[in-house]
Amino acid sequence: MDVALAWGDVAYLDCDVEGPNGHIFLEPRITETREVTVPVPRVDTGLCRHHGRCAEFCRYNAIAVLPTGWVLFDELCASCGGCSLACPEGAIREVRRRVGTLARGTLPGGAPFAEGALHTGEARAVPVIREVLREAPTDGDTILDSPPGASCPTLAVVEAAEGHARGVPLIVSRPPGSTRRQGSSWPDPARPRAVWTGSRPPPRGPGPWPAPAPRST
Ligand code: SF4
Ligand code: SF4
Repeated sequence: MDVALAWGDVAYLDCDVEGPNGHIFLEPRITETREVTVPVPRVDTGLCRHHGRCAEFCRYNAIAVLPTGWVLFDELCASCGGCSLACPEGAIREVRRRVGTLARGTLPGGAPFAEGALHTGEARAVPVIREVLREAPTDGDTILDSPPGASCPTLAVVEAAEGHARGVPLIVSRPPGSTRRQGSSWPDPARPRAVWTGSRPPPRGPGPWPAPAPRST
């Protein structure tokens, strides 16, 4: 955070949408807020024949078809759109569902600032993170404040950094035992810190990138 303040022309995007806190330290001036939405299916009762092809297609178990109705689990839906394609009756349409908010503005030095916030109870952070990443300026340097861990939200930010011409994912590890999972490909916190540039894969063999620990049975 101090780096961003001292470096007046560096943009800052808070992609840690489950607990954004950059605004506390950087005190940006927010100029716009908007809802982040995702498409989810809705079934037309007049067209549906209850044969269940939509539910068979869904790999996320977000649709259950019953003899006289359906149950849609919006929180499980990945918004892939496949169920509407699988329905031969054309009975599925999509509606927009709110999952988070995005705030944008400027840092005290004038550089761009954006922050996403996932709504309480929502499970899928990546759609909100993608909206934040859209705010990245096309030139200059940008700090992407990533979620912790090694799950999909974190990888979405790492991929965005790697896709940038000057992207440098900087991994800051915590002490051993606090967050590292067995089998994780992240660097061992007990070893020297490492910076992994987007154009260079982690080296193999001895060094700060050890082989994954064996999984316990
Ligand atoms: S595939 Fe279409 S018609 Fe068949 S159960 Fe699903 S919504 Fe109804
Ligand atoms: S959009 Fe995709 S994930 Fe959502 S209910 Fe349809 S098939 Fe399942």
